[in-house]
Amino acid sequence: MRVTTAFSRLLRLGKGVVVKKVQFGRGTVIVEVALRRRRLVCPECEFSTRARKDTRPEMSSWRHLDLGVWRLEIRCQRRRLWCPVHGARTEGVPFARPLSDFTRDFECLVAWLATRTDKTTITRMLRIDWRTIGRIIKRVCEDELDPDRLAELYEIGIDEVSWKKQHNYLTLIADHRRRQVVWGCGGKGQKAADAFFTELDPDPASSPPPVSAGQPRQPPEPAIMVPFGPCPTVPAGHGIPAAWLGPDRELDLAIVARASRLTAVSMDMTGGYAKSVRHHAPHATICIDPYHVVQLANQALDEVRRAYWNELRSLADPDAAKRFKDSRWCLLKRPEKLTDEQAATLARIKAAGGEVWRAYTLKEAVRGIFEAGLSLEDVEVLIKRLLSRLARSRLDPFIRLGKTIRKHRDGILAAIRLGINQGRTEALNNKVRLITRRAYGFHSAQAALALIMLTCGPVTLHLPHELYALGTG
Ligand SMILES: [Zn+2]
Repeated sequence: MRVTTAFSRLLRLGKGVVVKKVQFGRGTVIVEVALRRRRLVCPECEFSTRARKDTRPEMSSWRHLDLGVWRLEIRCQRRRLWCPVHGARTEGVPFARPLSDFTRDFECLVAWLATRTDKTTITRMLRIDWRTIGRIIKRVCEDELDPDRLAELYEIGIDEVSWKKQHNYLTLIADHRRRQVVWGCGGKGQKAADAFFTELDPDPASSPPPVSAGQPRQPPEPAIMVPFGPCPTVPAGHGIPAAWLGPDRELDLAIVARASRLTAVSMDMTGGYAKSVRHHAPHATICIDPYHVVQLANQALDEVRRAYWNELRSLADPDAAKRFKDSRWCLLKRPEKLTDEQAATLARIKAAGGEVWRAYTLKEAVRGIFEAGLSLEDVEVLIKRLLSRLARSRLDPFIRLGKTIRKHRDGILAAIRLGINQGRTEALNNKVRLITRRAYGFHSAQAALALIMLTCGPVTLHLPHELYALGTG
């Protein structure tokens, strides 16, 4: 077998790609390929043509999966074409995404690893830097996420995570039913929520005209409004709810808006998101994520603990202060998850009594209202009792917490009534926060967002050999 034939089979770069030459450089195998297809394809759309504008003078190159200890570089002389939409473009290749210096197989490996392992492992193993990884996962994310992820949303949660340092935020939309993050953007508050609703129901007037110039026309979409029974030509879940229109009436866009299907939106107690939801989805129930109530109770406890610690320090008892500083986690963790040593520390705090122990029991009481198996009536009674306990607590952070809970009581009860319980949101929240920490080294919010979406979103990442086995690679 000739070397070029052997490499064609090894690299499987796609139909019409032939290996012309194989060279060995310094630690790198350089494989020169040629595109043997008649039609030139625009890298950014479906447009293809036989007309060649010219040939790009420089060679293009891509990094492919390593071959043993050798780096592998693909080189190719590409032609250029004139796309009626995108103008002069260098032709697309089947083995790489447009504007990428890496093959699809390589990017696929990067994305898979990035969602599973730490920065040092992946940069050392693949010999690329973290910023490049950020750019790669952004491309993979745009390509691989389920395009229908916003189609069937009923109960959603809207929340922000801080990214990088303080005051860098990402707003995320979680689908409570699928337990996945389905949308995100940089920033937070009402503006971010508005951006979500705009993407959920884009203004028909502002969508770009269809790409058609010089293209074979697609047959028109089948009609999907049928009065009786399911439409035979539209797969279930892809149509829009049917409605009869009276004479001389225009179709009301609010009826078919995807926001009109939302039944519940959960959020924190800061208020920015509620405004936007009331405007765009006025019929949806606004609930308060139990996760955030517990988080607020934890913050109040931490405030009491810190005040006490500072007091110990000012009493010039550094030993006591240091011992107490380590107590942070035994106070914040769930009692059933404590290690033996942490449990002993907690028992000491209990024996000492005082403000910190009182704050701890109040925090546990807040958590208690969201225990699984409680009926709505139970919770109503518990909240009532909790509110009077908090009001009488003589601890400022908890008195404030009580006021906040009283103000959002209806939202908290709505969450329990609709089954948006703490367990359901906490797991996803913890996963998101873990990933966000890993994304600190990225240069852009978009890269951080891509890592969250690839890890917690509607996407299945495969390794190159799995794609090959599936027959799609
Ligand atoms: Zn194009």
